[in-house]
Formats: sequence, structure tokens, C-alpha cells
Amino acid sequence: MISSLHRPTLAKVDLSAISSNIKQIQDHVPQSVKTFAVVKANAYGHGAVAVASHTQRLVDGFCVSNIDEGIELRQAGIRKPILVLGVVLPGEVPLVRDYRLTLTIASLEWLELAQAKPLDLSNLLVHIAVDSGMGRIGVRSLAEANDLIAGLRQAGCQVKGIFTHFATADEADDRKFQEQLAFFKELVAGLDYCPELVHASNSATSLWHSEGIFNALRLGLVIYGLNPSGQELSLPYKIKPALSLETALVHVKKVPAGADVGYGATYTSSQEEWIGTLPLGYADGWTRDMQGFDVLVAGQRCPIVGRVSMDQITIRLPQSYPLGTKVTLIGKNGDQLISATDVAQQRGTINYEVLCLLSDRVPREYK
Ligand SMILES: *Cc1c(COP(=O)(O)O)cnc(C)c1O
Repeated sequence: MISSLHRPTLAKVDLSAISSNIKQIQDHVPQSVKTFAVVKANAYGHGAVAVASHTQRLVDGFCVSNIDEGIELRQAGIRKPILVLGVVLPGEVPLVRDYRLTLTIASLEWLELAQAKPLDLSNLLVHIAVDSGMGRIGVRSLAEANDLIAGLRQAGCQVKGIFTHFATADEADDRKFQEQLAFFKELVAGLDYCPELVHASNSATSLWHSEGIFNALRLGLVIYGLNPSGQELSLPYKIKPALSLETALVHVKKVPAGADVGYGATYTSSQEEWIGTLPLGYADGWTRDMQGFDVLVAGQRCPIVGRVSMDQITIRLPQSYPLGTKVTLIGKNGDQLISATDVAQQRGTINYEVLCLLSDRVPREYK
């Protein structure tokens, strides 16, 4: 999708907030721990190339979810290791090698399939995924881990790391977390060959579970300045949200009592009211369930009234404002603040999804 540059709707990304969040986390873990910045899904909507370019001196590598995201970074000149967190089918190995990406290998079946083709796996960089209880990908026993590592090494792969992923590191109840941690620790202790990098720490683990860090971090949401638990757990130190979403009034009118607004006429003015129109909608990621939530105009909360359309939303204003008046959807305006977590609460979802769903139609502006 082409980005719409000639509308006042834009996401402002403060790259220095991202680098200071990374430093803040690094200051709270042992110095020997390596840092991988997770920039999958276009860096959670912040722009993968911009974020990776700005942070590459601070980190030891990046994580993406698939090879196309890795190739985008390589083509932009990123040289650090890039770990692909998802499973890549063996047929793509030549491309992975061309771009010097690091693959996640999640089963013995993958290796057997690659060898049956046959594929040249020599010098392929790999990490082993361990399923300690998340239930998505990875080996589920020590025997499979040992067989897989031995087989990969025999095929000439460089087995650089082994990792697992926690399902509940962002929750107050840590029973499931402790079970996964114990399983992974025992598996690592039993390995015939232990790779250099052992990692299990997403943002939540790095914030609340120092015992789950091992020797590398995979930091996603926290570097963008948001709390991975939403509001369940409080942050042990300050981090700064990097993204704000702004637009401007493009139409303002006074309507009499009894005027309908929007598709389905779901809103009817109860008195004479000022209604403003904003140039964004669900095609920008401002989903229909935002009806009834607020935006910020001149430091005041103003409700979204009527349905959210594909490209426009309507708000109720306390008075008339000139066209071009700034409107904040995520971020600060005067003394008021709407966070991505507040937006998520309204939608019954998580802040991660709010950021990832901002579409390519919204330009990203960097400072
Ligand atoms: C997305 C992802 C992360 C980062 O998670 P955050 O909660 O954003 O820190 C880390 N590891 C894996 C395997 C992931 O898929």
C-alpha cells in the first residue's frame, strides 16, 4: 500500500526514545548479556529499517519473523546477525544463505526433509527452538534436541544458539513460567553440545524475571516504550513510548439537535453540537470498535461519535476549531495523554496489536 503523504494523518516515531529504552534495559542486566532487538512486523509498526539503522550500534543483532523481513534489513545495509524467529521451509535455504540470515530450526523432521532434497546446509547459521510449553514451535525433548544438533553439525551447519519462548512471562501468576523455565534449564544442562547463545527472554522476562535471561535478550515491545503486560504488572523502571499518532480537523460544522452522523445513523445529536471530521479510518488501523472512545483536541478529550468509516471518523467538539487543528489519537496533547495501552483496553485487545495494525497508509515521520 502506498503511504498517503498529503493528509495530516501521520505516526511520529521518536527513535531516540527507542535507543534510550534499549540502554535502560541493558543497564538492568549483567553486561555480558547480548541484546537482540525484535523488529518483526515492521518493528511493531515503527518502521523496521529506520529502527534497525538507528539502533544497530547498540545491539548484537535483530530478530524478524520471516525471511522477507530479514532481506529488507540486509538490502538497507544492516550487517548485524538477523535471526528469523519463525520456521522457514527447507526450500528457501539458498535465499537464507545469500542474505546471511540465521534460521530457527524447530524439528528433526525439518532436517530430514532438507537432507532428502538434498540441500547443501554447510555453514548455514542456525538456532534451535525448544518448545518448553508455549506449544507453537520447537523440539519437545532432550533426545530430539541432541539428535537435531548432532545432525545439523554433521551437515555442516553452524549451530549458534538455542532458545525457548515463555507463554506467561507478562502475568502476575508465575507458575507456568516456572515450569517452562525448569524444563528449559534441564534440557540445556543435558545437551551434548551447548551452542554459544542460550536465550529465553522476551520483554516481559527481561523486566520481571531475571532468572530467565541466560545470556541473550530478545527485546520487542519494551524497546518501543510500552508495558508488555498492559496494566497487570507495573514497570520496574521508566521507559518512554516512541510512537504517537496524529491527524487534524479537515471539516467542522454545527449541527442542530436530531442530526444523524455516519453509516447506520448510529449517532444522533441530542442538542446543537459541533462535529469535526478526521481523515483516517479502519483502513489506517483505526478499527470500528474505536467508536465511543476519545481523541485529544486542544488538550481536551473529545468522543468519536458515529461509526468509524474506512477513511474518516467524526468527533464531537466542545466548540468550533479551525481546519488544520491538530488532533492526537495516540500520545500527548496539552495535559492529556492517550496511550496505545488505553486504546487496546477500549478494543479488548493488547497494545502490541494496536501498533502492528497501523497500516502502511499512515506515513511514519522520524525524529
Ligand atoms: C515476538 C517475539 C519476541 C518479542 O516479544 P516481546 O514481548 O515483544 O518482547 C521474542 N521472542 C519470540 C520468539 C517472539 O516471537
